[in-house]
Amino acid sequence: MPAPPCASCHASRAALRRPRSGQALCGACFCAAFEAEVLHTVLAGRLLPPGAVVAVGASGGKDSTVLAHVLRALTPRLGISLQLVAVDEGIGGYRDAALAAVRRQAARWELPLTVVAYEDLFGGWTMDAVARSTAGSGRSRSCCTFCGVLRRRALEEGARRVGATHIVTGHNADDMAETVLMNFLRGDAGRLARGGGLGSPGEGGALPRCRPLQFASQKEVVLYAHFRRLDYFSEECVYAPEAFRGHARDLLKRLEAARPSAVLDLVHSAERLALAPAARPPRPGACSRCGRPGQPRALPGLRTPGRAEPRPAPPGHRQGSPGAGRGGDAGDTRDPARVPTSKAIPTF
Ligand code: SF4
Repeated sequence: MPAPPCASCHASRAALRRPRSGQALCGACFCAAFEAEVLHTVLAGRLLPPGAVVAVGASGGKDSTVLAHVLRALTPRLGISLQLVAVDEGIGGYRDAALAAVRRQAARWELPLTVVAYEDLFGGWTMDAVARSTAGSGRSRSCCTFCGVLRRRALEEGARRVGATHIVTGHNADDMAETVLMNFLRGDAGRLARGGGLGSPGEGGALPRCRPLQFASQKEVVLYAHFRRLDYFSEECVYAPEAFRGHARDLLKRLEAARPSAVLDLVHSAERLALAPAARPPRPGACSRCGRPGQPRALPGLRTPGRAEPRPAPPGHRQGSPGAGRGGDAGDTRDPARVPTSKAIPTF
């Protein structure tokens, strides 16, 4: 059966049916609609004021690639300037290839790129060293818990180095719904109470953060990357299979099969659950001494590679509890085997 005409331009044949609305569009009209929706999210939420220097957290994956591409296209409308900031966690066999993708994007789009490494920021610690240190300690599955805290701090540092006034990350609607589910499953009332929103206004001296793709489904992010022929990295981090997020993702897929609006319903429910600022519990992950966001007090008991003794806490910081970093942003834990690709999404 031939594809129907595009419901927008009526000139071309439709190339896809939008997963949520069912609207049949050609590739060009879909991409234009996607960009317009991101623009609306930014303007309606007053996320990025004119003149903002915006640090894009660039991982080389599809979400941050799409985010950087869309914001670059919207730069004249928004009156902002962009900087790519990538974090090198020190994960052998994974991050090097992902960073290579970020470097190709920066060169192709002529955007300045800054790379900040855990090893430089955190006294020689890399994620591989953290994994070796926690292996056999009963916390060998908590790499993403540590990494989420360190990544947040590293991105903040990188953004400050380039003089950014705002940070944007590529979290999409599926990521946000997974996070809401995880918070419920963990009983993390503090994070639920702070609600979803489109980001954080920069509490405690941190730079304001926002998620312009928060209402875009993962399927549409993949479709946008496909139609814009974006070059991105899609391998899975070696530590991702043990991440708790995978269970939330599986549950969300089943919920979505029964109720297609489940993803956005969860995103919106997080906003409705938010408490007034005065009633909110303290933000976890902030350093108990210096108050900086994502301070690595989640590293207690880690052994310096080659040493038997626990590594001391950073100067001026107490040793924390083993679960101190729980609740950190788990970062890029997505399993490509479960993530839809443009081939897996029905197109005409
Ligand atoms: Fe860090 Fe993401 Fe790897 Fe977890 S999956 S260790 S958060 S890079």
